[in-house]
Amino acid sequence: MVVAGLGDSGVLTAIHLARHCEVVGISVKPGLVSGQELGLRISRPDAWARDYRVDFERFRGLDRVRTIHGTLTGLDIGGQRVTITDPDGSTVIEDYDALVISTGVTNGFWRRPTVQTSADIDDELRQAHDIVARARSVIVVGGGAAAVSSAANIAARWPRTRVDLYYPGERALPQHHPRTWRRVGDRLDDLGVNRHSGYRALLPNGFECDRITGGVVRWTTGQMPAEADAVVWAIGRTRPNTDWLPAEILDGDGFVRVDSRLSVPGCPGVFAVGDVAATDRLRSSARNRADRLVAHNVRAHLDGRRLKSYRPKDHRWGSVLGPQPDGLEVFAPTGYAFRFPAWSIDRVLQPWIVRRGIYHGVRDTH
Ligand SMILES: Cc1cc2nc3c(=O)[nH]c(=O)nc-3n(C[C@H](O)[C@H](O)[C@H](O)COP(=O)(O)OP(=O)(O)OC[C@H]3O[C@@H](n4cnc5c(N)ncnc54)[C@H](O)[C@@H]3O)c2cc1C
Repeated sequence: MVVAGLGDSGVLTAIHLARHCEVVGISVKPGLVSGQELGLRISRPDAWARDYRVDFERFRGLDRVRTIHGTLTGLDIGGQRVTITDPDGSTVIEDYDALVISTGVTNGFWRRPTVQTSADIDDELRQAHDIVARARSVIVVGGGAAAVSSAANIAARWPRTRVDLYYPGERALPQHHPRTWRRVGDRLDDLGVNRHSGYRALLPNGFECDRITGGVVRWTTGQMPAEADAVVWAIGRTRPNTDWLPAEILDGDGFVRVDSRLSVPGCPGVFAVGDVAATDRLRSSARNRADRLVAHNVRAHLDGRRLKSYRPKDHRWGSVLGPQPDGLEVFAPTGYAFRFPAWSIDRVLQPWIVRRGIYHGVRDTH
């Protein structure tokens, strides 16, 4: 079994499969570097790293998984093999009986499919934090969860910094239930974040939104330019990490076509899960924990059993702001929030629900 891409969905899929079969996991990173909770990552990188950056050796469930550090560069569907370029530039071929594609998407400065060592990741985390820590004013551009969470957490961490959040629509979090935005909007007001609706940013020529900038931001919607020491671009221009895949398995936007069983049509034994998989309008299979389903379907396919179907939700759900001093709010698809009290995050949620329940055991760092 090959799991291509060991991010949030790939790690979990590999953990499920490794209990039953021989698994090879391939990743450009030496561990899980989650794309979640951007605000926490910028404002308190050490606290973020404790839960969202986990070396592969720390996952007990990956003990039996052979991990390869390198970049996937090709897929030969007929020959059932993938090609990997390792960090030294040499080529490695891995054959498979079943393949799960989980290479995710590129998004902003914090989710990029670059080959990195642990030291590179440390530097990157520290740099983003330092730029924002030094700023006396910050503009966050974007209206999704990454933007909103950045604005809130920056304002909470540095209360004397002026924080402005600019988003194009009437409201931010357009893919969440309206109730979620009402609640989160109130939290932003309490934290002193200045919210500006109806602003669409003009992107500097050729700018890939791959770093935190500073200076003037102009708007295509006609308002006066705005200026800040640091500008965090979180405008949701996600790009699927599918350059390595043949065009025939991709949809018009470059995501991997899948049927309701997360199987790639016309390619028996090839599945996709997570942000790269064109499952539904929101491509929500990572959030909806389809890692379990895809692992089940891979095994069912090999054993000739019936495959299960994925059922997406209508609205995005989950945490938006991440852990706060008064606890962690998790929003349901209906927009109502469930709150984990602050004391329970380190004593119950992370050790028991996340590390034990979801990941089947995570070793402490040394
Ligand atoms: C347990 C869990 C909880 C979640 N909670 C929330 C929540 O509360 N709120 C919310 O909004 N969302 C939540 N999400 C969803 C989350 O926002 C994203 O959808 C999720 O991080 C996407 O995971 P992924 O595996 O598809 O992508 P990624 O985590 O980005 O993984 C892709 C990996 O593949 C690597 N890669 C890419 N290209 C290559 C290549 N060519 N060769 C080798 N490696 C490559 C990437 O570098 C990366 O490491 C959750 C997801 C999970 C699993």
